[in-house]
Amino acid sequence: MAIVRSYGATKEVTGSCHVFEVGGVKIMIDCGMFQGEDEDKNEDAFYFDPASIDYLLITHAHLDHVGRIPKLVKEGFKGKIYATSATMDLAQIILMDSAKIMSEDFQTRYKKALRKGRETKLKKPLYEPLDVEKTFQTIEWTNPEYDKYYDLCEGVSFVYRNAGHILGSAFIELSYMQDSDSHTIVFSGDIGNDNGLVMPNLNKCDASQALYVETTYGNREHQPIDLTIKEFKDVIVETLNNHGNVLIPSFAVERTQELLCILRSMYESGELPKCKVFLDSPMATKATTVYRSYADELTNKCQENVKEDGSVFNFDSLVYTETPEASKGINDIKSRAIIIAGSGMCNGGRITHHFKHRIWDKRNAVVFVGFQAAGTLGREIVEGAKWINIFGEDIIVKASIHTINGLSAHADQDGILAWIRKIKDLKKVFLVHGEEESQKVFKNVLKEKLNLDAHIVGFKEKILLD
Ligand code: ZN
Repeated sequence: MAIVRSYGATKEVTGSCHVFEVGGVKIMIDCGMFQGEDEDKNEDAFYFDPASIDYLLITHAHLDHVGRIPKLVKEGFKGKIYATSATMDLAQIILMDSAKIMSEDFQTRYKKALRKGRETKLKKPLYEPLDVEKTFQTIEWTNPEYDKYYDLCEGVSFVYRNAGHILGSAFIELSYMQDSDSHTIVFSGDIGNDNGLVMPNLNKCDASQALYVETTYGNREHQPIDLTIKEFKDVIVETLNNHGNVLIPSFAVERTQELLCILRSMYESGELPKCKVFLDSPMATKATTVYRSYADELTNKCQENVKEDGSVFNFDSLVYTETPEASKGINDIKSRAIIIAGSGMCNGGRITHHFKHRIWDKRNAVVFVGFQAAGTLGREIVEGAKWINIFGEDIIVKASIHTINGLSAHADQDGILAWIRKIKDLKKVFLVHGEEESQKVFKNVLKEKLNLDAHIVGFKEKILLD
């Protein structure tokens, strides 16, 4: 009997963690962090012994799919990890960043607690940079290539297929023997939105009896990419022509590289007014370096006009600012700057400094290109805050505020349906990685359009496959 239990991304979009068990072998698919309202769940002990997991297969490097791996290792996991080479490189950057943020946050809280005499009650960070180092140094990592079949253990094999979501992303087809029959189960990870910007399109899945599928946008359609790009270009051109500046809070992985591709194509075609583009995010710069080193995995469009130095993302107006001093130096530029900085939801990072310096000026524009979760500064601004508080100072919002939808790295309802439609032999569909409302809608649509019954997976629920 094959069993799957899910320890995250059940009726929510973070914390992906599924354990597939067959013939006494335990195979974990992703070990992600809970983010936003559910982040306290990261503190909970795993509901299984980490030492009992034999293999961990990673779909992609987003924090909500890899963020609890150092905790897993710290608490006894000694198995093998499988991830594409690009996913492994990106995961190192993302996990180290996460560990540093948690450690710095702990130091700040520790000082405050010390002053109150409550330091012993303080919760320790989930893990520290040293735990991340151990994750990569003491655990055996193997880097499967796309579309190649690998034997995992006796009777179990797998293949990674390109999910077109972020660099290195994959959905995983896992095959196993049961009662002398071969069965396949697919874990979708996050599947891509075929926008043709940076990542190639989502690969086809030929056949599987069971499917665990993400449903982030199971109830929604994205607006067409051409319209999205036009909206983005219009704001840039108008603001720069009025001698203003454009501030873009951006996520370091994928979104930033998409923006760089769009801006470079504007530059090449002469649409970009004279300006300086600053990528003011050390993490986005590191992620861009990884993207560049896997240039052959990116779309041809993204690789067009590759400069003589072989770089995919460079163009003359683009400046990467590494040091805090270089970042502060941007403040001296009075007009015609485009500043891309983190964090993506503005709850910290260099973007908050740029808001302080520019959001009070009506010549400037703030362009949101990603989801802003409840409780973040980004959400406050998107919802029309007239004043924001930055570093204890109240600042008036006079810059124009724009929300550009459609740059999502996730497939929308039509995209997920089109992908599932092509999977032959499918009998069981399990919905994960989506808000429950979205999943209920998608479950109905799946029945209506493909006559498939789907089950919305619950936390720790034991699913028997055959
Ligand atoms: Zn993802």
